[in-house]
Amino acid sequence: MMFQWSCTVCGHEAEGFLVPWRCPCGGPWDLRGAPVGIDPAALAGRAATLWRYREALPLPPSLEPVSLGEGMTPLVPFPTLPGSVRVKLDFLFPTGSFKDRGATVLINAVRAAGIAEIVEDSSGNAGAAMAAYAAAAGIRCHIFVPSRVSLGKLRQIRAYGAEVHVVPGSRERAAAAATEWAKTCYYASHCWNPLFLEGAKTFSFELWEQLGRSTPDVIVSPVGHGTLLLGAYRGFRDLQKLGLIPRMPRILGVQASRCAPLYRMWKDQRSELVEVRPGKTVAEGIAIRQPVRWREILAAVQETGGAMLTVNEASIQQARARAAGRGLLIEPTAAVALAGYEEARRNTLIADEDQVIIPLTGSGLKTLR
Ligand SMILES: [Zn+2]
Repeated sequence: MMFQWSCTVCGHEAEGFLVPWRCPCGGPWDLRGAPVGIDPAALAGRAATLWRYREALPLPPSLEPVSLGEGMTPLVPFPTLPGSVRVKLDFLFPTGSFKDRGATVLINAVRAAGIAEIVEDSSGNAGAAMAAYAAAAGIRCHIFVPSRVSLGKLRQIRAYGAEVHVVPGSRERAAAAATEWAKTCYYASHCWNPLFLEGAKTFSFELWEQLGRSTPDVIVSPVGHGTLLLGAYRGFRDLQKLGLIPRMPRILGVQASRCAPLYRMWKDQRSELVEVRPGKTVAEGIAIRQPVRWREILAAVQETGGAMLTVNEASIQQARARAAGRGLLIEPTAAVALAGYEEARRNTLIADEDQVIIPLTGSGLKTLR
């Protein structure tokens, strides 16, 4: 398979599939000439999975994808919140998180390239998603996790047959250990590999269809490495390029106040990655000190007229409990977006008449104690 890679920082280009996992300058790759192809007339009659958008996914048209039936997660109202809010139940993916969107596309690309063994690092959900799709595709899989990973997520990754490497210390240490391992097999990183983001675009395509082929006013997303936020942004950007929506939704990114480098950069209008000293947060899935694609995340928020926000630990726990009280069992990281919605209303970033979508990204079954 031939891909054109272009560095998001310096513009350096490369060609092929087995290119180094990042540009020589250290920047993350983007795909050049990624397909922008949704034919509204072709959608009728297709199965309710994310593969109904396959012309928009960067895989050979002849490929029969390995699939677990993923995609088209429910969109439901959340009537106890003020305003017009709907939540998209992305925790109902096969592995219990939205990461399946990217994992299925990246693993299918790896399989099409004939690669037999991959390595990935993750705080849990991405590792579980990659391990599951690697199992389905018959690909050997090494997952590096930090030692403070949720036990439920660790057991889930192991259950799929992946080889789990627990790395003492921070999330960043797990990433460093994985990149060392990547000298001997393919680094299928959800943060670095742009094919993962291409899969995450399907969030927006589904939403567009579920809203009667229209766009919401606001999306409130948790942000760590920004895979969902950037996927949503890219999906809506594709729809706009195709003339299928008149405008982009405003994108609000929410971080836990104990680990909020993106919020800090946004607030202080910094153009360099800032060093933060993270505290321990229940939102383990977004406790990322150095988001790989921080430039793209801040640009997407800026371009859509959105904002970055933070929420404290108490409000995250309250939001998680409120969701469970409505029958929605989500993990604390997913509750960050719900808490962020209320914070955005207090800050008048969201008005009563705004149609708001909140993705609920990860299942609470993984973090029950
Ligand atoms: Zn570069």
